[in-house]
Amino acid sequence: MEVKLISKSFEPDLTAAAAAVGCYSAKDPYSLLKKMDSKRAGEVLKVVMESGHHSVVEHAVFTFSVKGVSRALTHQLVRHRVASYSQQSQRYVRIEEPDVVVPPSIERDKKKKEMFMNLMKNIWELYKGLTNSKVPVEDARYILPNATRTNITITMNARSLLNFFSIRCCVRAQWEIRELAYKMLEIVKKEAPLIFKNAGASCEMLGYCPEGEKSCGRYPTLEELKKKAKSSTTSGGSINEGDASVFPVRSASCCTDGSI
Ligand SMILES: Cc1cc2nc3c(=O)[nH]c(=O)nc-3n(C[C@H](O)[C@H](O)[C@H](O)COP(=O)(O)OP(=O)(O)OC[C@H]3O[C@@H](n4cnc5c(N)ncnc54)[C@H](O)[C@@H]3O)c2cc1C
Repeated sequence: MEVKLISKSFEPDLTAAAAAVGCYSAKDPYSLLKKMDSKRAGEVLKVVMESGHHSVVEHAVFTFSVKGVSRALTHQLVRHRVASYSQQSQRYVRIEEPDVVVPPSIERDKKKKEMFMNLMKNIWELYKGLTNSKVPVEDARYILPNATRTNITITMNARSLLNFFSIRCCVRAQWEIRELAYKMLEIVKKEAPLIFKNAGASCEMLGYCPEGEKSCGRYPTLEELKKKAKSSTTSGGSINEGDASVFPVRSASCCTDGSI
């Protein structure tokens, strides 16, 4: 798998921060952007990200080139609707030789790999036979496996990327799309370190695991946190004021004053 950044919007961190400030300023977004620096953007985006007002990071857009992933991966990928995709066509591109992704569980076992590759060779022989005997490529492709390699262009905004990472960096995600998510995360963390500061699996962003019984155990589940909070309340304890300090006063007021 090869993942490359093709393009990104201008200064993603600063643009998103200026957009946020613009909601509360008499000044125009362009003037605010010209004055924005990393320090101020860091302060602004901390509040924005913690308060969940993530629409401002939609102004940051990234386009990736993804090479050599399986069709099994792209089938999962395109379920992420808040994105744009352009995928190599199996109608117009004839795949001459077996070109497949071999899952590690098969790759590491010599016998299983041999059986897998033999099947791939047989599939491709039939594919070539069909296409050589006037069966349209678009029909012959019906016999191609999920393992078939493909290339795809992905464009996603930062908000959608955060959602993508939260779901697909989780250990519950399938290994190949997880690998893609981590490669994309590594790229955007360099390009927009403020927006993606806490990006990753949902547990890393939330501080708890939303997967319930299916949790890997790395973080407490929401149920566990609720039980803990309940027992501390019933035993006379109270929620530590310090816990609420992660929600800055400015974000609290913007939720109640109806300004956005
Ligand atoms: C471990 C795992 C297992 C999965 N198993 C299955 C499975 O067995 N079968 C299956 O079909 N899928 C499965 N999925 C795919 C999953 O259900 C989602 O379709 C996929 O992850 C895309 O997520 P999304 O909808 O949040 O993303 P996007 O489509 O990019 O949407 C982003 C966000 O926009 C909002 N949104 C988008 N569209 C709508 C809408 N129509 N209405 C309201 N809000 C909307 C939602 O808040 C959503 O989270 C699995 C995913 C994972 C990670």
